[in-house]
Amino acid sequence: MTVMDIFKTMEYGPAPEAAEAGLDWIKAHQPFGLFINGKWKKPASGQYMESVNPGSGKALARVAAANSADVDAAVTVARKAFTSWGKLPGHARARYLYALARGIQKHARLLAVLESLDNGKPIRETRDIDIPLVARHFYYHAGWAQLMESELAGYAPVGVVGQIIPWNFPLLMLAWKIAPALAMGNTVVLKPARYTSLSALKFAEIVHEAGFPAGVVNIVTGEASAVGEALVNHPDVNKIAFTGSTEVGRNIRRATAGSGKKLSLELGGKSPFVVFDDADLDSVVEGVVDAIWFNQGQVCCAGSRLLVQENVAVRLFAKLRARMEHLRVGKPLDKAIDIGAIVSPGQLKEIQRLVDQGVQEGATLWQPSWACPTEGYFFPPTLFTNVSPATTIAQVEIFGPVLVAMTFRTPAEAVELANNTRYGLAASVWSENINLALDIAPKIKAGSVWVNCTNLFDASSGFGGYRESGFGREGGKEGLFEYVKPAWERDAALAQDPSSSDGHQPGAVTAETAPEEADEEILVDDGLPAIDRTPKLYIGGKQARPDSGYSRGVYGPQKRLIGQVGEGNRKDIRNAVEAAHKASGWAVGTAHNRAQILYYIAENLAVREQEFARRISEQTGRVSRDAQAEVQVAISRLFSYAAWTDKYEGVVHRPPLRGAVLALPEPMGVIGMACPDEYPLLGFISLVAPAIAMGNTVVAIPSQQAPLSATDCYQVLETSDVPAGVINIVTGERDVLSKVLAEHDDVEAMWYFGSREGGKLVELASAGNMKRTWVSYGHPRNWLAREQGEGQEFLREATQVKNIWIPYGE
Ligand code: NAD
Ligand code: MN
Repeated sequence: MTVMDIFKTMEYGPAPEAAEAGLDWIKAHQPFGLFINGKWKKPASGQYMESVNPGSGKALARVAAANSADVDAAVTVARKAFTSWGKLPGHARARYLYALARGIQKHARLLAVLESLDNGKPIRETRDIDIPLVARHFYYHAGWAQLMESELAGYAPVGVVGQIIPWNFPLLMLAWKIAPALAMGNTVVLKPARYTSLSALKFAEIVHEAGFPAGVVNIVTGEASAVGEALVNHPDVNKIAFTGSTEVGRNIRRATAGSGKKLSLELGGKSPFVVFDDADLDSVVEGVVDAIWFNQGQVCCAGSRLLVQENVAVRLFAKLRARMEHLRVGKPLDKAIDIGAIVSPGQLKEIQRLVDQGVQEGATLWQPSWACPTEGYFFPPTLFTNVSPATTIAQVEIFGPVLVAMTFRTPAEAVELANNTRYGLAASVWSENINLALDIAPKIKAGSVWVNCTNLFDASSGFGGYRESGFGREGGKEGLFEYVKPAWERDAALAQDPSSSDGHQPGAVTAETAPEEADEEILVDDGLPAIDRTPKLYIGGKQARPDSGYSRGVYGPQKRLIGQVGEGNRKDIRNAVEAAHKASGWAVGTAHNRAQILYYIAENLAVREQEFARRISEQTGRVSRDAQAEVQVAISRLFSYAAWTDKYEGVVHRPPLRGAVLALPEPMGVIGMACPDEYPLLGFISLVAPAIAMGNTVVAIPSQQAPLSATDCYQVLETSDVPAGVINIVTGERDVLSKVLAEHDDVEAMWYFGSREGGKLVELASAGNMKRTWVSYGHPRNWLAREQGEGQEFLREATQVKNIWIPYGE
C-alpha cells in the first residue's frame, strides 16, 4: 500500500493491543482452579470447561467446573470468615478495599486485555471504561467501609452473600457486587458467568496479593445449573445478589421464597432513547452510538428503542445511517474499532433469530454495506424503522447491536411509548429545552434517566430497575442497604440463640405487653341488642359492600362476638387496586399537602382517642392503659411521617463529570399491605402512613383477628381530606387476600406482616411482575418501639431511587 493509496481510501491501519501479557498469564495458570479460602483448589468433579475467545472463535482457557460440593465448601469457609470480618472496625475493612482499588489499577492493562480476549469487547472500552469504573467502585466503597459506623449506625451486615453475575461486563459486575458487600462487613461467594471467568480469576489473585483473610472472598466458576442453583438454594447463604436475565431472576425469586434470604435482582431492559425535535441531532447520533453499539449492544440498559419526534425522524434516520456506514466492526484488541465480537455463537444465533422475526413482522431493516469479519462471532450494527410498538422486536430485549425506531408526536405520547414495556431500567431524553427534559424525566418509569447523554455510570449514583428490571440498587448510599439489616434483628437472633454470632435468622424480641384481663368497665351490657354498625370495605373513598355478600365475625378475647366485617375476595381486591391506581395523582401533589393530610388524620384520631382505645381493649383484651398507649403512639407516628414527608428528599451526586446527578426517591406506586395482628391500630398506621407520605396509594388488609380498629378509621379518613382511592381497606382472610395482591400486575410492592408460610406465599406470587416484597417471616416487631416501628427503613421500602443525570457545559 502506498501513501497515495492511504490518502485515497482514508482506511485505518490496524492498531492492535498486544495479547501476549494476557495469553502468558493464562498459560501460566491453566487449568484454573477455584478460589476458596484464599487458596486455589481443584474442582471436586475434576471437570473443566472451555472459555473461548469470541474474536477468533478459538479456545482460550480451561476453567474449573465446580459442583455443589465446592459451593458448600466455599459457603462454609465464608461463614467462618464472617465471624471475624463482620466484626472488624470499618477502618480495617476500608484499608482492604483501598488495597483492592490500588491492585486493580496496578494490573489495569492486564485486566483490560483479559476482559477483551474473553468477552470480545473492544479494548478501547475495557481500558477506558470497564476497568477505571471497577477501580472507582472499590475506592468509593472503601469510603463507605470507613464511614459505616457513623453513617449506618444501627445496621449490621447480613452475613454470607451469594453473588451471581452475567458475561456482559464481567469485572464491572463483580465490582458492583463485591465492593458494597465487603464494605458492609459481609463475606462473599461469587459465581462468574460461564463464558467470562478470567477477569474474576485475576481478581482473586489481587485479593490474595492484598492480604485478605482467608474465606472473605471466594470465586467459584462453573455452570449455572451446578454452581448457580447450589448457591441460590444453599441454606447457609443469607443473601443472593443476582444480575442477569429477567427469566432467571424470576426463577431465583421463586426458589428463595420463604427462605428468609435477602434478595436483589438487576435484570433486563428495553430502554427508551427519546429524541425531541429541538434536540441537537448530531449529538443524538453520537448518543445512539454509545447507547446501542457500546459493548455490541450487550448492555442491560442499552438505549435499544429509539423514539423520535415525527417531524425530525427522516432527518435523524439519514444521519444515523451515514454514521452506521462508518462504524468499524473488528478484532476486539484493535484499538481502532468501534464494535467487537458477540460473546458466543448461541448469543449470535439469538440476535439473528430476533432480527429475522423483525423482518417477518414487517419492519424495515437497514444494515451498512460492508461485511463483518468471518472468523469469530460478529454482527453488524442494525437499524429497524417502521416498527409497530406491539411487535416482538419492540418489546423483547435483543441484547445485541440492534436498534428499533418508532416515532411520536407529542411529549405525552413520548412518555406513553417510553413506558410501554414491562421493563424499567433506564432512559435517555434528548432536547435542548431543559424544561422539557426535566419535565419528562420523572414521568418515565426507570431507575436511571440520562438527559442529553447515555450509558453513564458512577459508583456514587445508584443503578437498578423499576418494574420487571428488578429491585435493589448498586452504587450510591442506597446500594449499601442491600447488604445490611437493622441491628435489632441481629440482636434479637443473638438473644434467641447466643451460639450463632451472625444472626442470620432474625428471631423474636418484643416488649409486647402480655395480654391482661380486659377492663370490666368497658364491657357494658344493658341486655338490649346492640345497634348494628357492620363496616363495609373501604374502596375509592366510599364504603363498598363486599362482593361475596358474606360477613365474618370479629371475636374478643373470651370468644365473644363483638362485631362483623365484610368478607373481602378477589374481586374486591381488584376493585381496590383499580381505585388505588386512579388516585395516582396523589404522588404528583406537593409533599406539603401530603404532610398536611397526615396531620389531619392525627388530629381526628386524637379527638377520638378514648373510643379507639376502648376498641383495642375490646378486641384484644388488653388493659385500657395499654390500649391508650397504642393510640397515642399511633398519633405520634402520624406526626413522624407528616414530618418526614417533606424531608425525605434525595441527594445531588457529583460524579467525576461536568454535571450533577439528582437521586430522587420516587413512590413505588400501588403498595399492597397485610397488617400485623398485634397492635391492630398501630400496625395499620405504621404501614399506611409512610407509604402515603411518600406518595404511594395503598390497599391495606387490616389485622385479621382485630380488624375493627382499621375499619373505625373510615370516618377519620373521610374527615381528614384523604383523597378517594389513596387508602383502600379490604377486610377478610389475610393470606387469601395477600396472595391476590401479590399476584396482581398493577401492584408494585407488597408488604406482608404475618406468618412465615404467608410470607413465602407472597414472595412466590410476587414473581409474576417481579414486584418488590417486604415480609416479616413471622418474626414479630415491637411496633411501640420507635427503632423497630418507624423510620427510614419504612421510607426506603416505600420508595425507589431514580437517578437523573444532567451534564452541563456547551
Ligand atoms: P443469565 O440470566 O442467563 O445468566 C446470568 C448469570 O446467572 C450467569 O452467571 C448464569 O450462569 C447464572 N444462572 C443462570 N441460570 C441460573 C439459575 N437457574 N440459578 C442460578 N444462576 C443461574 O443472563 P446472561 O445471558 O448471562 O446475561 C444477559 C442478561 O443479563 C440480560 O438479560 C441483561 O439485561 C441482564 N443484565 C442486567 C444487568 C443489570 O444491571 N440490570 C446488567 C448486565 C446484564
Ligand atoms: Mn470467553
